[in-house]
Amino acid sequence: MRKTVLVLLASMILTGCTTTQKGTTAGALGGAALGGIIGHQSDHGAEGAAIGGVVGALGGYIVGEKMKKKFCPIGGEQYDESVQFCPTHGVELKVMGE
Ligand SMILES: [Zn+2]
Repeated sequence: MRKTVLVLLASMILTGCTTTQKGTTAGALGGAALGGIIGHQSDHGAEGAAIGGVVGALGGYIVGEKMKKKFCPIGGEQYDESVQFCPTHGVELKVMGE
């Protein structure tokens, strides 16, 4: 179980390239750190970090989803609002909901 979580975290960090994955990775790392502290205080550091990582990943995923506010009118890919142009198609991104 613990190994599965670590492999999952490692693969997210290695493959993270979309906004959602970045948010998930940041959330997982933050959650793992927090979980490590919680776990340390209850003498179960590794378990706490694993649990914190899962909780953080979920939270980070939600944050990442909310950051997506623009989309490409050609391919439909989604980007966060700081991105002006689609890196794939070179067109100006549209704001979602408009
Ligand atoms: Zn595009």
